[in-house]
Amino acid sequence: MQNPYQNAMAQLDKAVKVKNFSDNFIAHLRQPNRDIRISIPVKMDDGSVKIFEGYRVQYNNALGPYKGGIRYHSLTEINEVKALAFWMTLKCAVADIPMGGGKGGITVDPKSLSKGELERLSRGWVRGLSDILGPHKDVPAPDVNTTPEIMAWMADEYAKITGDKTGATFTGKPIATGGSLGRGSATGLGGFYVFDSLRKQIKLPEKCKVVIQGFGNVGGHAARIFKENGHTVIAVSDSKSAIFNKDGLDLEKVEAHKKKTGVLKDFAGAKNITNAELLELPSDLLVPAAFENVINANNAGNIKAKAVLELANGPLTPEADEILFKKNIPVIPDILANSGGVTVSYFEWEQNLKNEHWTEKEVFKKLKKMMENASEKMLEKAQESKTSLRMGAFILALERIQKKS
Ligand code: GLU
Repeated sequence: MQNPYQNAMAQLDKAVKVKNFSDNFIAHLRQPNRDIRISIPVKMDDGSVKIFEGYRVQYNNALGPYKGGIRYHSLTEINEVKALAFWMTLKCAVADIPMGGGKGGITVDPKSLSKGELERLSRGWVRGLSDILGPHKDVPAPDVNTTPEIMAWMADEYAKITGDKTGATFTGKPIATGGSLGRGSATGLGGFYVFDSLRKQIKLPEKCKVVIQGFGNVGGHAARIFKENGHTVIAVSDSKSAIFNKDGLDLEKVEAHKKKTGVLKDFAGAKNITNAELLELPSDLLVPAAFENVINANNAGNIKAKAVLELANGPLTPEADEILFKKNIPVIPDILANSGGVTVSYFEWEQNLKNEHWTEKEVFKKLKKMMENASEKMLEKAQESKTSLRMGAFILALERIQKKS
């Protein structure tokens, strides 16, 4: 796989060509403040002990405590975590929340573990890193394959070790243990608000045909929200397969089929296609909501969508970015498009620290306003510099971070 950290740095290189920033500031931003690897011994159900590798990258805290999720994946490694932590730094700045950027992970296929093993592993990650975490130091959250339940185990472990009762060290917790209403759907909803405020500028019709890659927490909610708002979701995919119906998918039935069979494949109301075919379908909007590098030099030339909304982190390589820019296909960049998740995480942190409980309506209203502001500011920067939306978002973020550095 193309190294995501190199991709992130190539994006930074490009941004500093568009706009002047202090050399010292940019040199600092090329490296994380800290990158930490830990060994996590876990007692397995058969009595043996297995050692897992865990990470936390504290990239930059000029704007506030480090903030960012924890990823569990068999391919997760330090360069991916560094790239994701860098993007978190910019993302928090674009969303205009007082937080810095961090990211964590464990190299593991969580499906290969029992629930007890998963809990012991998650608690082990916290034990290995508790010194550097805290509501005013570093505030982790869920990412790929990490759930509210895992956040609850982690918050509990942290409270046991440190005595901290605020619960504000981890966000994305279940509601019953201090989570915020609206956090579960926040990334998908935030992405929709961003899309909606930019739709006219990027010349998309009022009713769009939408293709979504990924049907997990982010893609699943996004599909539902787009449909509820009058758009037609014509294709979705999971890690194994993809399904397509040019007239639109009945998402409730898709959901029920996936629950029953474990896969999207062979859903009665659609045609089976491959993940690669899904990305190349003609549509108004393509929404990659899974992993890095899925649109790259090999397939970018074949993209037939009119615009792309990046709900995943880093789904386009820099080469793909160039190709789509030349083809006049606007790309709403990840650091804006998926910033709804961390924005509601910030709301959760604030509620925990103030011991408040906001209604879902309040959360969504605040989220909408913040996404609209961020979209507007990004567009201004992109237009001012006559550059892509991604570069607009980079410039907006870099200016905000530089001011506080
Ligand atoms: N993992 C999510 C992201 O990539 C959310 C981070 C957070 O809530 O801190 O933005």
